[in-house]
Amino acid sequence: MGQRLKDKVALITGASRGIGQAIAQAYAAEGAKLCLLATDAARLTALKESLGLPDAHILVQSVDVRQGDRVLQAVQTAIQHFGHIDVLVNNAGIYKSKPFLDYAVQDFQDLLDVNLMGVVNFMQACLPGMQARRTGSIVNIASTAGKWGSRNQSAYNVSKHAVVGLTRCVALEASPYGVTVNAICPGFVQTDMVENLKKQAAESAGASVDAFMQAALARVPLGRIITPEEIAAMAVYLGSAEAAGITGQSMHIDGGMVLS
Ligand code: NAP
Repeated sequence: MGQRLKDKVALITGASRGIGQAIAQAYAAEGAKLCLLATDAARLTALKESLGLPDAHILVQSVDVRQGDRVLQAVQTAIQHFGHIDVLVNNAGIYKSKPFLDYAVQDFQDLLDVNLMGVVNFMQACLPGMQARRTGSIVNIASTAGKWGSRNQSAYNVSKHAVVGLTRCVALEASPYGVTVNAICPGFVQTDMVENLKKQAAESAGASVDAFMQAALARVPLGRIITPEEIAAMAVYLGSAEAAGITGQSMHIDGGMVLS
C-alpha cells in the first residue's frame, strides 16, 4: 500500500462491518485520518483499536444515518476534531427482500430512510464545507440494484436507483466547486448483508439457498462473489487525487453481472 490518501480526512458511514470496515482499513493503510460512523459503538471501538492510529487521527461516533440532527452534530464534531472533511463515503445500508405485493409501505419507508435519506443527510452536512474549501470527494455505495431490475427486492432497488440519480444530480451542482461525487455499484459482496440476502431472496423466490445462489452466480461472468477489499480499492481510488477528473459516475464491481 502507498500513501494515496496521506493526511486526507475521510468520514465513512456503516464502518462497523462488511464493506465499510474494509474501506476504513484500506483508507488507514493509504494514510487517511478517519471519522468512522455506525450504530454499533462496540464494533467501532474494536475497529479503532485494531487500526492502531494515533487518537488525533481517528474518531468514532455512534450515529443513526436516519437522524438528520445527529448527522449534523456528528459532522460538526468531526470538523472540530480534524478541521475539515476531504472525503465522505456513504456506505451504510440495509436490505430487505419481498415480492412487490408483499412489501408494506413501511418496508419502502425503512429502506428509503437508511439507503437514500442517510446519503442525503450526510451530503447536506458535508458539502457546504467541501464547497467552501473548493475541494472534496463524495463516494456513495449504491448497488447493481441501482442500475437494473431484480425480482423480489423492488424497495431495495428503488432506494439504490435513487442513490445513483442523486449522485448524478449532486455531481452537477458540486462540480463548479471542484467537488466530485461518484457511486460504486457492487454486485454480490461477501458480507453479513449477502448472507442475509441469500436467505431472504431464496425464501421470496421459493427456492433453497443453494439453488438461489447457484442461479445467481450463473449470471456472474467471473463466476464468483466480490470481496469487500475489492470495493475498498475502488473507494480509495475515487477518494484520491488520481480520480479528480471523474464525477457523476457509478462504477460496477460485479464480476460482469450487469452484462449478462
Ligand atoms: P452490512 O455488512 O450489513 O453492513 C451494513 C453497515 O451499515 C453496518 O456497518 C451497519 O452498522 C450500517 N448501518 C445500517 N443501518 C444503519 C443506520 N440506520 N445508521 C447507521 N449505520 C447503519 O452490509 P455491507 O454488505 O457491508 O453493505 C454496505 C453497503 O454496500 C450498503 O449500502 C449495501 O446496500 C451496499 N451493497 C452491498 C452488497 C453486498 O452484496 N454485500 C451489494 C451491493 C451493495 P451498524 O450495524 O453498526 O448500525
